[in-house]
Amino acid sequence: MELDTGTDYVLDRQREECGVFGVYNNEDDIDVARTTYYGLYSLQHRGQESAGIAVNDEGTIVFHKDMGLVNEVFNDVVINHLKGKIAIGHVRYSTTGASLSYNAQPMVVNYRVGQMALAHNGNLVNSKALRDEMESSGAIFQSTNDTEIIVNLISRTRISSKNIEKTLEKVMGKIKGSYAIVMITPRRLIGMRDPFGIRPLCIGKIGKSYLLASESCALDTIGAKFIRDVNPGEIVLIGKDGLNSIQAKVQGDSRLCIFEFVYFARPDSYIDGTSVHQARVEAGRQLYREHPVEADMVIGVPDGGLDAALGYSRESGIPYGHGLLRNRYVGRTFIQPSQDQRESGVKIKFNPMRSEISDKRVVMIDDSIVRGTTTRKIVQMFKEAGAREVHMRISSPPYKYPCHFGIDTPSTKQLVASNYSIDRISDIIGADSLGYLSLDGLLKAPSGCKSGFCTACFNERYPMVVPMEGNKMACSTR
Ligand code: AMP
Repeated sequence: MELDTGTDYVLDRQREECGVFGVYNNEDDIDVARTTYYGLYSLQHRGQESAGIAVNDEGTIVFHKDMGLVNEVFNDVVINHLKGKIAIGHVRYSTTGASLSYNAQPMVVNYRVGQMALAHNGNLVNSKALRDEMESSGAIFQSTNDTEIIVNLISRTRISSKNIEKTLEKVMGKIKGSYAIVMITPRRLIGMRDPFGIRPLCIGKIGKSYLLASESCALDTIGAKFIRDVNPGEIVLIGKDGLNSIQAKVQGDSRLCIFEFVYFARPDSYIDGTSVHQARVEAGRQLYREHPVEADMVIGVPDGGLDAALGYSRESGIPYGHGLLRNRYVGRTFIQPSQDQRESGVKIKFNPMRSEISDKRVVMIDDSIVRGTTTRKIVQMFKEAGAREVHMRISSPPYKYPCHFGIDTPSTKQLVASNYSIDRISDIIGADSLGYLSLDGLLKAPSGCKSGFCTACFNERYPMVVPMEGNKMACSTR
């Protein structure tokens, strides 16, 4: 395989995968920091590089954030220190170059009306222009993340009425890209979702107290009731008078990231009205209809491929087997800096169950092929472990184009489907056959979903123009 194995990235911007959480204690007996800690714990899959919690105690914000997993960054002593009425939290993963502690969130600042803390999931596509403009008027930045740009814009946007909602509406008009934001002002917890609704954000409730979370699984964990999703372009303001909402911007057609359903979200979450698990099972069923094969066993690559494997098995009648063990304590192979480390990472992470697969014709289901490293190694391991045939089935279309909206993607040089035909990829990974789910098939899977989808990673139809580094061309849009 002659793929570029370097770590160069197309844009100078960093791409981030993150999870956000917020809670406002409205006369209930809620320890807001501890609740946020458990919320972040269940959003850990959205980011494993840094974690942080900020708490508002009568207008004064205290916070703790650091590099590491939630349980590495926080302990009882730290949590007991974070006392207050409102809290927000954040987990973050980003590309290697941006893996620095000063980028950890929430970002806490003093500005003209007091203190503010803000945490953000997503990516702004006009951050360079906004930053250049602010720097040319003297602004100083301490991080390289988009969050600081948003915080600066909020501080600089002067509205005569001093209403934070008016300020945020104006800021929403200036920032372009994907964002699910939680923030603390002196008196309120605020959530906002970009006008396309690219990243998820939902609202929960315990007693009289409201919560915000990237995914509903975080609400389940702390025993909160799911109320609804934040609408695209909506700002929700939570204070002692309850929840108020402003529909600040209406885009018309929402574009929730389809990759949330494919890979990113936890299967026990519901996003925009649809169960992620159900959507994946349905994608697996459709995958069988599109790419049937005779085999003895269906196996899912843990964890992303498991639900689709169940669907493939149910639709085909081929037994579902537990044929691949995943070591749960290994980080994502995806984040290893070099190709060599990535390859040995796959072996450390996965091991086939010899007894289960020996002499069997196996259909192996995964949610996606990105660089091809994982799939190639797994197929090879299966063959070495005695599988007679390995038929690879992928529950999404070929991943060809970089995401600019919050999913970490290597450059097109490293995306195997950008460079090779499906037949050639099948050879490269050493499979007996390879089939990808069609885009139409995938779009049918989250049935009942209230949202439209961003499918740019599969068809280059970005929901908005994306300024590219080094040339004046913009990516194709809708
Ligand atoms: P690769 O070896 O690059 O082809 O990686 C494919 C594997 O990475 C699949 O098993 C996916 O579940 C997983 N994957 C897909 N997208 C991502 C992502 N953004 N971050 C981490 N892992 C991913």
